[in-house]
Amino acid sequence: MVKSMTAVNLGLPLRAALRPDAAPGVMPSLDGRPEHSGLVDRFGRVARDLRVSVTEKCSLRCTYCMPAEGLPAIPRDDLLTATEIARLVRIGVRDLGVREVRFTGGEPLMRADLAEIIGRSAEAAPGIDLSITTNGIGLDHRIHSLVEAGLTRVNVSLDTVDREHFARLTRRDRLPAVLAGIRAAHEAGMTPLKLNAVMMRVTLHDAPELLAWALENGCRLRFIEQMPLDADRSWLRENMVSAEELLAVLGERFTLVEAGRDDPHAPAEEWRVEGWTVGGAPATVGIIASVTRSFCAACDRTRITAEGTVRSCLFGDDETDLRGLLRGGADDAEIARWWQAAMWGKQAGHGMDAAGFAPPVRSMGAIGG
Ligand code: SAM
Ligand code: SF4
Repeated sequence: MVKSMTAVNLGLPLRAALRPDAAPGVMPSLDGRPEHSGLVDRFGRVARDLRVSVTEKCSLRCTYCMPAEGLPAIPRDDLLTATEIARLVRIGVRDLGVREVRFTGGEPLMRADLAEIIGRSAEAAPGIDLSITTNGIGLDHRIHSLVEAGLTRVNVSLDTVDREHFARLTRRDRLPAVLAGIRAAHEAGMTPLKLNAVMMRVTLHDAPELLAWALENGCRLRFIEQMPLDADRSWLRENMVSAEELLAVLGERFTLVEAGRDDPHAPAEEWRVEGWTVGGAPATVGIIASVTRSFCAACDRTRITAEGTVRSCLFGDDETDLRGLLRGGADDAEIARWWQAAMWGKQAGHGMDAAGFAPPVRSMGAIGG
């Protein structure tokens, strides 16, 4: 039984070296793994937060994520079906200690059967928190069927409320559609709605306006440092907007007081916005400083890609195929064992500070953010 977190040295060159055994059709090594029913790794972390990507398709082309032409299409037969996704959710929750499930992509709303995915998952794991991360486009037409199916929370990605900047950043003039989606989610009771904004230079000076808009509209806003996960490979550390820079810009309009994390595994550090309230409670803004203040040592994520591989880390290219097991007649216990093996090999951290760091082969939209 692993009881405590161990210190993680993020400076090591970790990628590839850790998993020489990872190969298609070969179960990753369980050597040295203690008896533990959950998704424990070599560094004492236990994954309980499951992200499931359901598609590579998207209605936007955010420059920090997708190429202008979109990602290469995944053949339909390679995508996990709603039934297969629900089976993995059941195994994750019932057998492996998963406590919350978030559907992402690509854009989850691009899956016509998203309500079925959520409905089957809700049946497979009653009472579990089922959420989506979405760009919000089309949410106004779908929210009721999704909530009826069992959706419990929604995170919407919104980087700016300046229409021209939005169009430039996402390569699509769709801000009004996103705002309509946010309104509809609110009206459907998905509150407090969380908004995610990637910090980019083109929108940096829109940040105070975005925060004011979020607070006035009852949303909890979190800014995220841009990570080297864009398909165009244009990320440069010296160009990225750091949490510190963002705080300075927000500080021109707001008084912010450091409030810590909501819980030790929460990626966002919270700041109280003095003089503002949301729903009667003191207003906060979160900052996810994935690059400059990495939280890898407390990471509790496990990911399933749209094609049914386990991805233990956003930055680890080694993936373990579960789709072949699902379709090859494996029982739940065998699938759970492979999933445990995949997570046992999770790398210590993103390794961005290490010499020779190279971004992962798959971009954010292809992994599932
Ligand atoms: N399409 C949905 C959306 O945009 O919310 C879900 C998928 S998207 C890949 C999930 C999250 O990843 C979004 O909040 C997005 O802003 C974030 N993201 C994408 N690329 C990123 C990058 N390079 N660095 C940091 N966050 C990124
Ligand atoms: Fe699409 Fe989301 Fe990537 Fe933007 S961040 S391109 S909305 S998948």
